[in-house]
Amino acid sequence: MRTAILYRFRLPLEAGVILRYQRLKTRDGFLVHLQENGQQGWGEISPLPEFSKETVEQAGEAAVEWLKPWCLDAEPGESKLPSVAFGISCALAELQGELPEEADYRKAPLCNGDPDELIVRLSEMSGQKVAKVKVGLYEAVRDGMVVNVLLEAVPDLSLRLDANRSWSRAKADGFAKYVNPDYRNRIAFLEEPCQTSAESLAFARDTGIAIAWDESLRDEGFSVEAQEGVAAVVIKPTLTGSLARCRQLISAAHNAGLETVISSSIETSFGLTQLARIAHWLTPATIPGLDTLELIQSQLVRRWPDSTIPVTGLDELEIAWRS
Ligand SMILES: [Mg+2]
Repeated sequence: MRTAILYRFRLPLEAGVILRYQRLKTRDGFLVHLQENGQQGWGEISPLPEFSKETVEQAGEAAVEWLKPWCLDAEPGESKLPSVAFGISCALAELQGELPEEADYRKAPLCNGDPDELIVRLSEMSGQKVAKVKVGLYEAVRDGMVVNVLLEAVPDLSLRLDANRSWSRAKADGFAKYVNPDYRNRIAFLEEPCQTSAESLAFARDTGIAIAWDESLRDEGFSVEAQEGVAAVVIKPTLTGSLARCRQLISAAHNAGLETVISSSIETSFGLTQLARIAHWLTPATIPGLDTLELIQSQLVRRWPDSTIPVTGLDELEIAWRS
């Protein structure tokens, strides 16, 4: 016999989390719980405002639409809404014992502006040193200088940069000009430097700075292939779809010789620990991009190891639907 419960959560975000055009105050979504023959599985469904096409209400409706027939022993197809398809596929993978428990809890620390703080964090990091810096928020010249400072201060560091398509080609060139040429090969990749993928590709060819695709993955007609100057693809499962869809992309990327980075869409600690397991399972050679735990003021049910952020328990959540 199959049973299911859909819990709704709403957790306060740290002040000042701005997503594109809005300041977000809470992180909203659902936990889905599936049970069958004494086995159980869980998943998080949390579409990200400004990035997901679906709203949290639409996600909730689509989840119930899927759960109803599933509880009646049907095998409904994947939801068309990526966050729903992902959360449910995680619950099914846990239920079927397919998702290994082992996790990759390494994080590539994220720098939002203050390089000194990042240098301290990196000095405490053991093993492979990888950090991520958001660029394109300030002057390109300043970004170039921050990159130089970090690479100079931490000799075994490699950097992932992310411009979120914010630069014109001229601005991107301005940035490249300020990065010490000796350091360019320690930029593992720069995500989506320019407004169009054609400009980004030309930038990579002309500057020797490797790039990565993130937003482009979700563009109509995009296919993963080997391209000069492209080093990696960034996969955000909540924005992408089911685990099966993510695995397809990962194997296409690996076949094309690209590094694949599993990254967060500001999921709760619940979703992040699952992403850490997925990363360990499917992209074991790559440190995942999961350094967003601290953006939410509470963890949810499952804790991130060693985090002291308080935890919201299951008994504090509203039940949105149950079979
Ligand atoms: Mg990105």
